Amino acid sequence: MFERTEEVKVLRDPVHSYIHVEYEVIWKLINSAWVQRMRRIRQLGGAFMVYHTADHTRFSHSLGVYEIVRRMVNEVPDLNRALNESEKITVMAAALLHDVGHGPYSHAFERVLNESHEVYTCRIIEEDPEISGILENAEEGLSHAVADVIRHQSANPLLPQLVSGQLDADRMDYLLRDAYFTGTTYGQFDLERILRTLRVSGEYLVVKESGVYAIENYVMARYHSYWQVYYHPDARSFECMLEKLFLRLKDLAETGQMPESIPAMRPLIEGNRLSLEEYYMLDEYACNYAFEVLTQCEDPIASDLAKRLLNRNLFACIDASEENRKRITERLYQEGYDPSYYLAKDDVGQRVYIPYRISEGNAIRVRLHGGEIRELSAASNIVASLVQGKTLRDDRIYFPKEIRDLL
Ligand code: CA
Repeated sequence: MFERTEEVKVLRDPVHSYIHVEYEVIWKLINSAWVQRMRRIRQLGGAFMVYHTADHTRFSHSLGVYEIVRRMVNEVPDLNRALNESEKITVMAAALLHDVGHGPYSHAFERVLNESHEVYTCRIIEEDPEISGILENAEEGLSHAVADVIRHQSANPLLPQLVSGQLDADRMDYLLRDAYFTGTTYGQFDLERILRTLRVSGEYLVVKESGVYAIENYVMARYHSYWQVYYHPDARSFECMLEKLFLRLKDLAETGQMPESIPAMRPLIEGNRLSLEEYYMLDEYACNYAFEVLTQCEDPIASDLAKRLLNRNLFACIDASEENRKRITERLYQEGYDPSYYLAKDDVGQRVYIPYRISEGNAIRVRLHGGEIRELSAASNIVASLVQGKTLRDDRIYFPKEIRDLL
């Protein structure tokens, strides 16, 4: 038996109206240092440089993912029956903690880190004394059960599907939340309808055939959000510049010239495996402080890149053709810019929805009126035509605006 909160605690939320907390273990996790740290990490990396109100944090997103999972396990009758109380707590805690290992400006940062945020997430869940203590006090073995959801190794295969599959609470929350905070409408879809049409078939989450329209809408929301928000050239420009600044700091560190003034960054820049204590200190406050300090540092490249980041003097971009690359590299040399720090290549590609064979686990499954289970693209004409199209790609190179003006 898990201890309940004295009364249901509610937190106001613009996406879900309220986040409901009914268990002490969840309430304690929300109030832990690592979960509170997510208030200091924004959800959208560089996209806030495009959408000026997109300042929402991983903390609010994590509460949102938790709330969607909480509703799934309570309001989807099949799930409510299929899972016992311990499994419900496990998957709700995993939803709340699924992003706890993110670093600042996640994607650029992760490339510097050489280790994925999932690895840190699991380390925090299993090794941080506060988090693992809260979980183990609620039930012995709970910290490993929660980390197993993140690793997709749960004894019950339904649990990871709720948090991160193709039709999961993580995506559902970030699409809705990012749509709300960017002020765009691309990410919107009918969450209520999807929840109403979710069922369980064997070890899989499936959608009733009458829910297919809501699912199509969700797939389109993903498609549009990727191109309009996540892959927006200015958002990517910001992230490319961040990577270049990290690269410069790494190169300085190798020759013993790393600025003394940003000690919190040192373990990261020196490429050590970070202890959880060191990792905890690396949030966006630490990064932004480092940028400010670096504007004053002796190294002209680090100081210039830091100023550009703080003042949103973003790199321009152009198609990454061989000809463009040559032309811009030459011009950079002529103007005295080192292309290793002033020319960035970035490529992104996206399949709208990747259908998997129904035997392979990670598909959106639809249960037809007659009871037969089909993979989504076999049940939806719209999705079928989308997946026949080729992967959309967008390969660009980024470089200082003043060079573009000289071309
Ligand atoms: Ca997430």
